[in-house]
Amino acid sequence: MRHCHQGGEMKTTIKIACPYCGVKQGISVPFYPGWNPKTLHTCDVDFGGCNRDFVIGIQWSYETEIHKLIGPNYGMSKDG
Ligand SMILES: [Zn+2]
Repeated sequence: MRHCHQGGEMKTTIKIACPYCGVKQGISVPFYPGWNPKTLHTCDVDFGGCNRDFVIGIQWSYETEIHKLIGPNYGMSKDG
């Protein structure tokens, strides 16, 4: 049995700032709901960074939207 996880993987770009030199840079990370990874990143010299390694702890946050169902079939328990 082989498991293939390729395809359908979502990636998202997050903005971080290097803890050493403060240079802001965007990194692309895989997005898995409920997974809060720690990832090793090297400060990107292309952004003017210092090329030092640091660990990023990612915490995805979620917002839940709740919508009421409002219509003629709801809330009518009595006859007029
Ligand atoms: Zn840096």
